[in-house]
This record gives sequence, C-alpha cells and structure tokens, in this order.
Amino acid sequence: MEIKQRLTAFLQTIPKQVQLVAVSKTKPDGLILEAYQCGQRAFGENKVQELAAKKPRLPDDIEWHFVGHLQRNKVKYIAGFVSLLHGIDSLKLLLEVDRQAARHQRIIPCLLQFHIAEEESKFGLNLTEAENLLQDESFKQLKHIQISGVMGMATNTANEQQISKEFRNLKRYYLILKEKYFPNDSAFREISMGMSGDYRLAIREGSTMIRIGTKIFGERNQ
Ligand SMILES: *Cc1c(COP(=O)(O)O)cnc(C)c1O
Repeated sequence: MEIKQRLTAFLQTIPKQVQLVAVSKTKPDGLILEAYQCGQRAFGENKVQELAAKKPRLPDDIEWHFVGHLQRNKVKYIAGFVSLLHGIDSLKLLLEVDRQAARHQRIIPCLLQFHIAEEESKFGLNLTEAENLLQDESFKQLKHIQISGVMGMATNTANEQQISKEFRNLKRYYLILKEKYFPNDSAFREISMGMSGDYRLAIREGSTMIRIGTKIFGERNQ
C-alpha cells in the first residue's frame, strides 16, 4: 500500500483530538513528502544528525518533533527549529535547551519523559525526580523553555494489561504535575504515549499525542 492510503486509513481510526506525530526516522525524504502531501505536518525523528540533515531538504512548514534520547552536546544542532522535544529527562539537559533556545530567541516546547516501562534500558524520570526538577531554583529561572506535558514508552510486551497499567501511570503523573505545578498553564496539556504496537491502548488511557512510525511508513531495516 502507498503511504497516502495508509495514512488516510490510519487517521480515520483515531479520534480527532489525538495528534499524530509521523515518526519518519530512517525513512527517505520521498516518503516524508508523500505524507506531507496528504496534509501531515508533524514528523518525529530520534537522531540529531539525521534530523539536522533532513530539515533543510524538506518543506519549511514541517513541525519537527524530536522523540529520542537527546544528548546535551547535540541540542545546538536542532534548537533553531525543533517544535517539540519529547525526551527531557534531566535538569541539566533542560538548562542546555534553554541556553540554546535563548541564542535563537525562541521558546522551545518540551515534554518531561517518564520511565514507565519495566525494562531497565528505557530513559526517563520517576515522579520524585520530576518534582525535584520542577522545584529547583535554576528551573524557575528558565525563560526559553515551555513544559508542555509528559511522554512515556510502555514495555514492549504482548501483555495488554501491563501496557495499559503503564499508560495509566503516565496519565496519573500528568494529573499530579498539572494540579501541583501547572494549574493555570494551558500549555501544559500533552500526554505523548502510544506507538504502532500500542497506540489503541494509549488512546484509551488518555493519550493526546501518538508517535507512529511502522504503521505509516512500513518496517524499518535498522
Ligand atoms: C521509533 C519510535 C516511535 C515509533 O515506533 P513505531 O513502533 O515504528 O510506531 C515512537 N516513539 C519513539 C520514541 C521512537 O523512538
């Protein structure tokens, strides 16, 4: 099937209030353009080098989301244009994002990534770490970042109850932070959860943003 048919069919199955981030990592410009021509504007990448290379070759009104683990020394390569950073998992990283955003006179929207999976390998904060970050005096000084919500990745398992439980936890963290730190901040509103294998469960648990690669662009080789 063509990208266009897949994307159109896919969009028909998700509620309108859930935003689709089309994860185009490893995929060539031509496939991204096909999705763009169907009206898709939000694309996700997880490698700084790949994103920085694709950006100038593709239409300027694409919203590039960075969905991977971001290293501090690479923030500078995408700070001028990235529209949402999904993987903020430390205060140090956030300080560097703020510094680079200031150089570009921008405010960069960021999501706090939570560790919700059972697997050890996945990055992310726990609730205490997130609260420590939000209470830190140096965080309160930041003027060039906007905390727009939370992000998490569930365990890669066939156990749907396990996955749902993890997404429910992320929603709970979101609500706790919303009430305590962002009660009057309408920008704090996103729960980025759900990938090709588990987006249905994520939407059921309150996802506002799903990150879908394989289901739109096909399997990746790497
Ligand atoms: C690759 C990736 C996705 C998309 O995964 P699919 O299973 O291909 O939909 C979503 N989120 C993150 C963080 C990723 O790295």
